[in-house]
Amino acid sequence: MHSSPSCRLRPSSTNTWRLDLANAKIKRIAILGATGSIGQSTIDVVLRHPDRFKVETLTANTNAHQLAVLCEVLSPSTVCMADGEAAAQLSRLLEKKGIRAEVLTGEEGLIACATHPSVDSVMAAIVGAAGLKSTLAACQAGKTVLLANKEALVMSGALLIEAIQQGGATLLPIDSEHNAIFQCLAPHTRADLRSKGVRRIILTASGGPFRTRARDSLARVTPDEACAHPKWVMGRKISVDSATMMNKGLEIIEAHWLFGAPREQIEVVIHPQSVVHSMVEYVDGSVIAQLGNPDMRTPIAHALAFPDRIESGVESLNLPAIGGLNFEKPDTNQFPAIRLAYEALQAGGTAPIVLNAANEMAVASFLSGKLPFLAITQVIENVLQGSAPEPVSGIEHVLAVDSMARELAAIAIQRACERR
Ligand code: NAD
Ligand code: MG
Repeated sequence: MHSSPSCRLRPSSTNTWRLDLANAKIKRIAILGATGSIGQSTIDVVLRHPDRFKVETLTANTNAHQLAVLCEVLSPSTVCMADGEAAAQLSRLLEKKGIRAEVLTGEEGLIACATHPSVDSVMAAIVGAAGLKSTLAACQAGKTVLLANKEALVMSGALLIEAIQQGGATLLPIDSEHNAIFQCLAPHTRADLRSKGVRRIILTASGGPFRTRARDSLARVTPDEACAHPKWVMGRKISVDSATMMNKGLEIIEAHWLFGAPREQIEVVIHPQSVVHSMVEYVDGSVIAQLGNPDMRTPIAHALAFPDRIESGVESLNLPAIGGLNFEKPDTNQFPAIRLAYEALQAGGTAPIVLNAANEMAVASFLSGKLPFLAITQVIENVLQGSAPEPVSGIEHVLAVDSMARELAAIAIQRACERR
């Protein structure tokens, strides 16, 4: 764990108090996925605390213009555009503006930004399997990893946890539910939950935009309708995941790896107000919850400053204005994704890799207007049924299973589109 960046007051030899500048350390941050929703919220928090944080590296996929603007504001030493043409474009833009930053590209560039020797904390906020290698590299390099990229953990939980232990890294959850659980559990994280008296982890879920709609009525929903989340503003992939509730499915598996919790100890409850971000129940009947307005700057600020607390720009919670907090059991007929995720976790081995790959393919096809909404979970179920789970042998195996599942998903999507 890195020392807190705040200046501490220490008694001097003359017995007066002075600033201990030797202990003052600015945290140097890598933001992987800087142009995305989490990336932008991270930059918002970082800019509020120039005395604590300095952005060292930034990465994005294709939006060179947006990254050029971020370079102007944040003056990183190194940046990466995953896409080669976008990297060339960024180099030209930076030269025109007279901004000096090393421009890298491709997977190696992402890894170089994640493992840069000056970087203390890595915000892992690339969406999907594309973030796996850079997140893993940050863990192996012993960084403090602020994990938003839940897909990486779903695909390769055992490998990431092993890399964290071997690399001496610190993992801090950014997903609001897991950050809430972390706060309710601390300081017992990843200890044996039973010996610490934990009975259950209760993940809350808003239920997404279609919570109260009859399943039949969802056949023709458009990508824009699915992305119009009632409580959170997020990237399009995770917004669709919230609409199908696969987001909660992925979060069940994420909780399993983050907290070492068995399947039976992880429950989901629908909570439409999205104020209680999750809960931990102890064996004495105590239930500890973390509450706050639905704004990702809270978990981001918590993890950036951990173990300190810093201002995040999030408004105070106005409970009288909210009025009431409601909780319901999830309907797994309406939302089969939760059942599929529990089944994949139970099957273990490569099953969660297949679940994630099929989901990424189906969501991309839905977002491009091809696959109907209700077919997303049908495609995932077909692909899971067509691939027998096996033990995971290493990262190359994870990537091979990911490719195989994407091929199976492409076939299942093609069939579903033909039936349309
Ligand atoms: P987003 O789509 O808004 O941003 C994704 C970022 O990843 C962008 O910067 C994009 O340039 C980059 N990217 C996409 N494809 C890439 C590729 N092939 N190579 C390199 N970079 C690539 O997504 P988001 O909503 O910010 O979500 C990011 C991650 O955080 C996801 O894993 C999501 O599940 C998780 N998360 C998001 C939220 C939220 O509120 N947005 C909450 C919890 C967890
Ligand atoms: Mg979440």
